[in-house]
Formats: sequence, C-alpha cells, structure tokens
Amino acid sequence: MNGRTALVTGASRGIGRAVALELARRGCRVAVNYRNSRPAAEEVCAVIRENGGTAVPIEADVSVRDQAFALAEAAVRELGPVEILVNNAGVTKDGLLMRMKDSEWDDVLRTNLNSVFYCTQAVIRGMMKARFGRIIAISSVSGLVGNAGQANYAAAKAGILGFVKSAAREAASRGVTVNALAPGYIDTDMTGALPEEVKSGLIRSIPAGRYGLPHDVACAAAFLASDEASYITGQVLAVDGGMTM
Ligand code: NAP
Repeated sequence: MNGRTALVTGASRGIGRAVALELARRGCRVAVNYRNSRPAAEEVCAVIRENGGTAVPIEADVSVRDQAFALAEAAVRELGPVEILVNNAGVTKDGLLMRMKDSEWDDVLRTNLNSVFYCTQAVIRGMMKARFGRIIAISSVSGLVGNAGQANYAAAKAGILGFVKSAAREAASRGVTVNALAPGYIDTDMTGALPEEVKSGLIRSIPAGRYGLPHDVACAAAFLASDEASYITGQVLAVDGGMTM
C-alpha cells in the first residue's frame, strides 16, 4: 500500500484513529478527519509522522454535504487523489422508539448514513477515472440484527449495507471496490458510556469472550483497502468475535 492516499472520516478517536494508524503503518498517506477533537486528530498525525509517515488533520462535519466535499478537496490538495476512503464517522443517540425524538433520528441518520453518501460521491468519480479505488464503510452488527434502543442507529447502519452493494455494482468494472465492516462491541468512547450491567450482558453474547479492540477493526479495513482484496466487493464483513455467526 506504499504511497497510496487514504481519507478516514472520524479519525481523531476510537476505530477511525486505529484505521488511520494502521493504514499509515502499511505505507499510506492519511487525511485524518475530525469534527471537534482537533488536539486528538493532531496527536494521531504526530504519531504517524514520528513513525516516518505522512498525515494531515482536516476538520469537517461530514454530515453536511458542502463540508464533506470540502474535506475531499482538501485531502486531494494536501496529499493527492484519494485512493482509499474509510467512512467511519458515527454517533449514537439511543432511546426507545416510542420516545425517540425527530432530532435524535435526524442527527443519527445524517451523521452515519448521509455522510457515507456525501463522502463517497465526493471521491468516487476520481477513483473510477483512475481505475483504482477502495471504499469501506463502517456499519455495525446493529444494522444486521437490530438492537433495542437503537432504531435510528440500526436503520442508518442497515442503510449503509444497501448503499455499499449498489455503489459496488456501479463501480466494480472500474477497479473500485466498495465494502462494509460490521463491528460488534468494540471498546471505544462510544461504548464506554454503557452501563456495567449492559456490558456484562453483552460479553456473554460474544463467543470470543472479549470485547473487540479498535485494532481488530483496523486490520480488517486495511485488508479490504489492500491490492490483495481487489476481487472482493459489495460484501459485509462482521468483526464481532462471532456474535452474529
Ligand atoms: P467514537 O470513539 O465515538 O469516535 C467517533 C469519531 O467520529 C470521532 O473521531 C468523531 O470526531 C467522529 N465524528 C462524529 N461525528 C462526526 C461528524 N459529523 N463529522 C466528522 N467526524 C465525526 O466512535 P467509535 O466507537 O470509534 O465508532 C466509529 C464507527 O464505528 C462509527 O461509525 C460507529 O457507529 C461504528 N461502530 C462502533 C462500534 C463500537 O462498538 N464502538 C460498533 C459498531 C460500529 P470528534 O472526535 O471530532 O468528535
């Protein structure tokens, strides 16, 4: 993957941070997108540079079309044409369906699903012209099997799966692959806030007997981004310790 240019959305923390570090370790130049956490994004870039790599932090709220397109333009300007896009940025606003507010539905759909549409649309033309591209979207096991309290999040994550398969069909003949990862329970800020009783119930449902690490997801993303994965497209790979097998 030496010298490839990658754009990772929501790369200041958690899974996105691990993906940025892993892609850089494998030789990519990385655009590290963040929305609020500038110091954290700068720290990710500093780690990459200390290890001899190239990375730039780029602020953008990817739930807003103009900002997503400006992000892609900035990545091209700073690092060159984007060859790998990892749509990772996401949020949760959990609550039971009966009490869910429109704002909680809209925020989660915009951040987790609209962003994937915007960022993919911003880079896919260049990839198709170049006859090479890797687009990866981070879905969730919630999008595969649903989850009480996450109707908004599960709808967005399931929406990603239909999006990925459709985009994969449109781009396959041009050397561009589009795939999704469906992580299970991964230890990050997003899951850190869950109550202890929910966490201990969750671990009993994981055959591997442990929570996933951001690095577990990052390695799967790096594989799908590699040249070796050129014949894999439109797929959903669960990274969940066997939860949904
Ligand atoms: P996290 O630790 O909460 O980090 C979220 C990241 O997304 C941060 O870098 C945040 O940036 C960024 N972000 C949020 N909204 C954004 C926006 N509108 N524009 C740009 N960046 C934005 O979350 P995580 O656990 O690493 O999750 C990463 C992805 O994996 C999400 O799509 C999540 O749904 C998915 N996922 C997570 C799990 C899990 O168990 N953790 C399981 C399945 C799927 P700032 O730091 O600037 O706020």
